[in-house]
Amino acid sequence: MRSTLVLPIDPVTPDPAVIEEAAAVLRRGGLVAFPTETVYGLGANALDAGTVQRIFAAKGRPASDPLIVHLADCEGLPQVVAEAPQVAYTLAAHFWPGPLTLVLPRHPQVPLAVTAGGPTVAVRVPAHPVALALIRATGFPIAAPSANRFGHLSPTQAAHVLDDLEGRVDVILDGGPTPVGVESTVLSLVTPVPTILRPGGVSREALMAVLGEVQVAERLFSPEAPLPSPGVLTKHYAPRARLTLYCGPREAVLHAMREAAVQEIGRGQRVGLLLAEEDLPAFTGLQVVFQTVGMGVRLDEVARQLFTALRALDHANVTVILARDFGATGLGLAIRDRLTRAAAGSVINVK
Ligand code: AMP
Ligand code: MG
Repeated sequence: MRSTLVLPIDPVTPDPAVIEEAAAVLRRGGLVAFPTETVYGLGANALDAGTVQRIFAAKGRPASDPLIVHLADCEGLPQVVAEAPQVAYTLAAHFWPGPLTLVLPRHPQVPLAVTAGGPTVAVRVPAHPVALALIRATGFPIAAPSANRFGHLSPTQAAHVLDDLEGRVDVILDGGPTPVGVESTVLSLVTPVPTILRPGGVSREALMAVLGEVQVAERLFSPEAPLPSPGVLTKHYAPRARLTLYCGPREAVLHAMREAAVQEIGRGQRVGLLLAEEDLPAFTGLQVVFQTVGMGVRLDEVARQLFTALRALDHANVTVILARDFGATGLGLAIRDRLTRAAAGSVINVK
């Protein structure tokens, strides 16, 4: 067990001295957790196989789950990908820096540990001044998965990182809550048609506006389909409590959730509800723990608050979580994906 140093840092204009302190740790082969616009990442030198291994050890992550490589700009691409098609640069021009990860052929100098032994590498340029300053200061690409223990909820605050990884990471740069709140969209460019392997901060609609055709990996909608990407497990992003996700027309969903809450309370369960602000009146008089994630139409707010809300329900020691769906438009698809996986298959389609 090592001690973890938490360094506060301004998320807009990071202090170069603090960045340098963290960069020095990375150069020595250490691990640094840092904010990106999506969630906090657990970073190491992406070109050093030995230190990359330490990420897997710290997270308890299986070696079969590849890491995302973070660059300061798209000029860094030739360092990590063997060849980038023109469309990669087109997407970079539209969405980088930003929450879009591209899966491309791996450059031989990228350690196989990063790609889980595979021929492709996932790469992105994060839109966060702290992440960009850190990558620039080190001069090497940074491999960084989300800074949580494997299978736990991704951290959107430094305190979440500390909860999961205290003593397992050398430095945490605390730049406050992350603005997007869900992970990046993972888009494969090695398939005949660009394919979303994991929905995230860049919507399918935004990608279609640039690319025309975009597929969404089948697994997202059918649990029987093969895994689109090694790390995309059914049970992931899981709170401790048993979670059930309710999909369908809002009124019917709220009605079904209320009935389920009453039943669970009757069985002696401690019930938590994940809702939009405007849903609260449907549950008056119930002895439950409420966590709201903003107004339901503000999907950016819902995404930003989602993981914090789920962690708060865990901290409130609920035994059952009932969550409502927020549709499949825009960020709704990423929110549905995370809640579906937190539910580990317990999804109810209300008619
Ligand atoms: P995380 O950074 O924790 O959000 O995890 C990174 C995720 O990106 C992995 O779990 C995979 O789903 C995905 N990923 C990373 N590299 C690849 C790759 N080469 N091919 C497909 N998916 C990848
Ligand atoms: Mg993760």
